[in-house]
Amino acid sequence: MATKKPSKSANGKKASAKEYEIDHQRLESLVNSMADGVLSTNEKGEIVLYNGAALNVLDVNAIQKGDPIENVLKLTNENKEPLDVKRIILNCKTQTISRDYKLVYEDSSVVSIYLSISPVHLGYGKTGESGYVLIIRDITREKSLEEERDEFISVISHELRTPAAITEGAVSNAIFMLEKTGDLEKINDALETAHKQARYLEDMINDLSTLSRAERGVLEKNIEEINAHDFVKQLEDSYKKQAEEKGLELKVDIDPHLSLLKSVRLYVTEIMQNFITNAIKYTEEGSVTIHAKQKDNGVEFAVSDTGIGISKGDQARVFEKFFRAEDFRTRAQNGTGLGLHVTRKLSQLAEAKISLESELNEGSTFRIFFPNLSK
Ligand code: ADP
Repeated sequence: MATKKPSKSANGKKASAKEYEIDHQRLESLVNSMADGVLSTNEKGEIVLYNGAALNVLDVNAIQKGDPIENVLKLTNENKEPLDVKRIILNCKTQTISRDYKLVYEDSSVVSIYLSISPVHLGYGKTGESGYVLIIRDITREKSLEEERDEFISVISHELRTPAAITEGAVSNAIFMLEKTGDLEKINDALETAHKQARYLEDMINDLSTLSRAERGVLEKNIEEINAHDFVKQLEDSYKKQAEEKGLELKVDIDPHLSLLKSVRLYVTEIMQNFITNAIKYTEEGSVTIHAKQKDNGVEFAVSDTGIGISKGDQARVFEKFFRAEDFRTRAQNGTGLGLHVTRKLSQLAEAKISLESELNEGSTFRIFFPNLSK
């Protein structure tokens, strides 16, 4: 502890050496039980006290009392440039908190640090000792979550702005034409554009909401017995019309030995729907086939198409949030770049494994193995 002289007790009497010793031990155990790192220095910035959590944050085994703070706390800025720690601390006149410092460990890994510096008077009156109490905490995880959230918000607002602006433009055009020209064909075109963009916004909001529920792990987890044969037939019924409207043939290839699949129907359905809508969307000619095959302890589904295909480079990226191929044929279709990202999240919840085979201009096959889950 930093104070060496016996202090006065609450009733104003001088504390005995024993009372002082007890106080000292209480304080030491209090400081040691703190989850945050604590470093205390004298007014010259030399260490007088530290706790175990500080050793953890600094990734060292020991600190010598009397060591200059700059030898113990080697802070850098965001660009990993070393900072004059002693000056930063000795210049503090009131409590100062920062979340922007970094520490570079011996193995050159970098952690983000919360640092609170409080100038303190440890004795009474002007002649009493003074110094600084530093609280340090590793906030690397918090920081990376914050960065990811900021990036996500910026991408989402960008993605939402374009369709919202197009919808607004098309509707005000329609109103203008209604008042001025009454040209029904043009009004109809404008409303169709607005309708398409509104549908796109709706898709995006649905994808976002599923994603958020999947990430928070609050989606239902009812494991049920799914009749894989009937399930594929239902998918065929649901998508037959959509495929036919595009001039595509929708086929099914079902293993006659399919047994019941134990999984979460919501996940299996969402995933397969994403694969099928993509296959129809990114295929101009030919067919889309839904496959179901019995495997040990589970069922493997696949959706193959004879569509535009995915280049080798893009195959590694299609499951990323907001990724869409640059290909003009992809861009000609509405899309959010969220479907496959959601699919991957859901597949993790269903403990399923996805694989992708594709050849540019030839077609793609998205394959997924669902294991039987136990209740
Ligand atoms: P979206 O279809 O809304 O753009 P997805 O996350 O579902 O978003 O797909 C991401 C990207 O992967 C698509 O933009 C497209 O580039 C590519 N992709 C997905 N499925 C197929 C497919 N069956 N054929 C070709 N490209 C595909």
